[in-house]
Amino acid sequence: MKKKAIIFILILTVSLFTLMAREPQDEESLVLNNVHLIDGKTHKRLKNHCIVVKGDTITDIHPLGEKDITGAAFLLNLEGHYVIPGLIDAHVHISHMSAEELRMVLSWALKGGITAVRDMGGDVRKLATIRRNALLHEIESPYIYYSAIMGGPTFFTDFRVVGSTLGETPGKLPWARAITPTTDMRQVIAEAKGSGAAGIKIYANLPKEEIQRIAAEGHKQGLKIWSHATVFPARPIDAVLAGVDVVSHCGLLAWESAAELPQSYERRHEAQYDIALLKDKSYEKLFKEMVKRNTILEATVYIFLERIAKGDKKMEEFCIEVTKMAHQHGVKIAAGTDYIYKPGAPFPNVHYEMELLVDKCGLSPIQALQSATRINAEALGIEDRTGTIEKGKRADLVILSADPSADIRNVRKIRYVIKGGKLYVRQ
Ligand SMILES: [Zn+2]
Repeated sequence: MKKKAIIFILILTVSLFTLMAREPQDEESLVLNNVHLIDGKTHKRLKNHCIVVKGDTITDIHPLGEKDITGAAFLLNLEGHYVIPGLIDAHVHISHMSAEELRMVLSWALKGGITAVRDMGGDVRKLATIRRNALLHEIESPYIYYSAIMGGPTFFTDFRVVGSTLGETPGKLPWARAITPTTDMRQVIAEAKGSGAAGIKIYANLPKEEIQRIAAEGHKQGLKIWSHATVFPARPIDAVLAGVDVVSHCGLLAWESAAELPQSYERRHEAQYDIALLKDKSYEKLFKEMVKRNTILEATVYIFLERIAKGDKKMEEFCIEVTKMAHQHGVKIAAGTDYIYKPGAPFPNVHYEMELLVDKCGLSPIQALQSATRINAEALGIEDRTGTIEKGKRADLVILSADPSADIRNVRKIRYVIKGGKLYVRQ
């Protein structure tokens, strides 16, 4: 009898303990109740679902009414609303901003639906601090991922790289490194990784052999390799064959069919922009190779139309048509902007990039959304953590009051943004 009583007490203690251990978790949970789900992965729109978030993670997704959610600490009733994965801008430059501008831009970008950005070649001394503060939610900011820049020695007099290395010697730093055939690649990649970079940005003035060396060693040490589409004198196909993960800028693809390439990037926007050139077999070969190797094109259509082409109709047309052609061949298109915001604009530029991908380049609204979410996460190498709405993924979400699959401009109708489980109210 005595033995039975002890067992009873043990069971009671264990179940009480379990109950006590479970309760605080439930108290912390956030439930998005009765929301239409666009998961970033499929083309389906799942109506009337519940998403359970605990800490920074999505712990459950189920149809409305299937499970009891009354224990949730925080319940958002979202009838008639839509949830999409948090937007990522795959190409920003933020380290040159003043502290005040940065605080304003990052907070505004977050409330504009951006939960992560990829900075492409800035001052790592500054970016590392922002990244840490954003990670810990100490500032209102998207998560920050940044790159270390590499190029030929002649690139390191560029005023932008001089600006991101002030006080030091450009080209001789972990985050701004000049590469020559004698560079100890293992060492410089390790230093780049040690600077906190998520990837290497290959900017310019390198032959294909050096791109190959960077890509091979970078991958070996777990970094992503991000390259300008034309590195000069290397062509787009050279970067793709070297194994880079992402190539940037639709306009730079115009060099693929050129008879000769300049030795330096300064003349990068002086290609022949003629859509008749897209009939050249080299483009078909390039896009087939990109599909085969899963190379992503970060097109940056918006900045080309808005700033670089500046009314040059032939260049505009080329940028649109080459992106459309890549998409038609099945190349994954990442949504990056090269400038996160335009002062006075109501939304971050990634919205306009998505809109151009739909309006001009043949993507459906769902495909353009995937460009700015899942494909950008893939470009960053964080697709197992974010970019889609799935159980186990980080809760990076945007809640909209209208259906973005019906009109990509509905992505502007933001009510809430959730970054790593933390809720921000837009209006
Ligand atoms: Zn850039």
